[in-house]
Amino acid sequence: MKTGHNGIVNDAQGRVKCVFCVVQIPKAFSCIEQHIHGSKHKETLEIMTDNGIFHNEDNTMYCKPCKTILNNDESASQHVDGDQHSNWIAAIEDLIGGEFINLDSYLCSAKYEEDIRCDLCETAFPFTLALLEKHVNSHDHRVHLAEKLKTLNGIFPVENGEEVWCKLCDVYIENKVQAILDHIDDDELHMKWFASMDDIIEDHDISLDEFLSEEHHTTAECGKCNMEIDCTTENLEDHIFSETHLNQFD
Ligand SMILES: [Zn+2]
Ligand SMILES: [Zn+2]
Ligand SMILES: [Zn+2]
Ligand SMILES: [Zn+2]
Ligand SMILES: [Zn+2]
Repeated sequence: MKTGHNGIVNDAQGRVKCVFCVVQIPKAFSCIEQHIHGSKHKETLEIMTDNGIFHNEDNTMYCKPCKTILNNDESASQHVDGDQHSNWIAAIEDLIGGEFINLDSYLCSAKYEEDIRCDLCETAFPFTLALLEKHVNSHDHRVHLAEKLKTLNGIFPVENGEEVWCKLCDVYIENKVQAILDHIDDDELHMKWFASMDDIIEDHDISLDEFLSEEHHTTAECGKCNMEIDCTTENLEDHIFSETHLNQFD
C-alpha cells in the first residue's frame, strides 16, 4: 500500500481518471486541479481514511477490514455502503462500543497487517473479530474497564475494601467488577443522574470531569465563564440561564 498518491492516473487509453472516486476527468490541468480540490474528492479521501481503504501501487484499491480489492468500477464510497463493509462496521461498533478501544490508527495506517491497541490494558494484538471479541470479554479487560469507568462515574474506594461508594447515588456497591459495571450500566438512579445532567450541560462547555473523578470535589467547571458551580442539577440549570453565562461570547 502506498500513501501520498492523489488518485489521479492515466489509464491504458491515455484518459485521465481519479481511481479514488472512480471518475474520468478531462485532461486539462485546470480540470485535474479542480477535481483534486473539489468537495467530492475530499469526501472520498475522508471515507478512505475512516474506513481503511488504500491505494495500491498497481492503482487498485484495497479495503483492509474486508481484506479485499475493490472492483474496478467501484468507488470508495460505493464500497463502504455495500453489505460486506457495512456489516463489518456494525459488528465492530457492537463489540467496541464503550470499551475504549480505538480503531483509528488501525484504519489509517497504510500497512496490510496492523495490530489493534487497547489503551486500557496497554496491550496490542493482531486484528481479527475473534481476537477482539476475546479481548473485550477477558477478565483483564473487564477489570481495567471497571477501573476506568469508576473515575468517569463518581465511584470511589471505601476503607474496608469490600465495597465502593457511588457519590452520585450515595450508595455502597460490592467491590466486584461485575457489580460495578452493573451499577453503571443498569442502575436507574445512576443513569438518570447522567441523563438529566447531560440535558442541562449539553453544548454549554461545562465539565464534570473533576467532580466525577475526585471524591471531595463538589463543583463543576464552566469553561465559558471560567468559574466553578456547585454540582447539582438546580445550580447548573440556574447557571446556564444566568446573565453571567448568557453574556459570555464564545
Ligand atoms: Zn477523486
Ligand atoms: Zn470494506
Ligand atoms: Zn483491554
Ligand atoms: Zn451511582
Ligand atoms: Zn457559565
